[in-house]
Amino acid sequence: MHDAGITRLDHVFITHFHVDHVGGVPNLVASGVPIGEFIDHGQNREDSDITRHDFAAYLKAIGATPRRIIHPGDTIDLPGLKTIVLTADGEHITAIPGIKPEPNPLCATEPHWDLDDTENPRSAGFLLTYGRFRFLDLGDLTKAKEIPLVCPANLIGSVDLYLVNHHGFNLSNSKAFVDAIHPRVAIMDNGAHKAGSPEAWQTIHESPGLQDLYMLHTAEGSDAAHNSADPLIANLKGSPDGAYLKVSANADGSFSVFNSRTAQTKSYSHK
Ligand SMILES: [Zn+2]
Ligand SMILES: [Zn+2]
Repeated sequence: MHDAGITRLDHVFITHFHVDHVGGVPNLVASGVPIGEFIDHGQNREDSDITRHDFAAYLKAIGATPRRIIHPGDTIDLPGLKTIVLTADGEHITAIPGIKPEPNPLCATEPHWDLDDTENPRSAGFLLTYGRFRFLDLGDLTKAKEIPLVCPANLIGSVDLYLVNHHGFNLSNSKAFVDAIHPRVAIMDNGAHKAGSPEAWQTIHESPGLQDLYMLHTAEGSDAAHNSADPLIANLKGSPDGAYLKVSANADGSFSVFNSRTAQTKSYSHK
């Protein structure tokens, strides 16, 4: 936030109640930064002590700050942007205004995926549109909930930037989903030893139209063939942690990705 010159947060979007998504809220509130509202999918649905603890700590931390429970189809008011909620609490949109669903030929060969009973398939996710630029973030949504968004017809259309589902775990990132959304650039927010699965990396890497797959860390459990080239990784194995990727987008659909480790910016043209 300091680097970006941000001094207040109008909306804090909590995808679900796992510690890597909500665990920082008490520290965020304690920092004193003004916060307009918290947005989440409602009740914790996971029957585990750790998640019950993290959900309770979240509610306690936000205190009297407004909290808004969102549902598929809801919008988030951000000047100049169109932001629509696609998934929340296991439900999903049935149509996006202005998007004509197209049949998805990959549905026929996609295996059936069983639903898991964690918070992941409950993830709240959104599509953000800025002019012709489209960005998709669906939290830790798993395959069983990815498929209804793209099968039998693709409800989302194509996106310019895909924040990779579930840090690149292979429980997410089904081929019928990734190929349908047709990202130009994907950012995998994996840890050195968290997610970044070779199967998910490969599915995204070989999806048609993909120009670059960025990674937050080298996936140290994967071989070199399932890691991106060094300039596309923010935190290399052995390098100090804390480097970030910053995306700047324009209304014509062009955008750029800055890697703070290399201080290099790579640009992607308008459509
Ligand atoms: Zn997560
Ligand atoms: Zn999760």
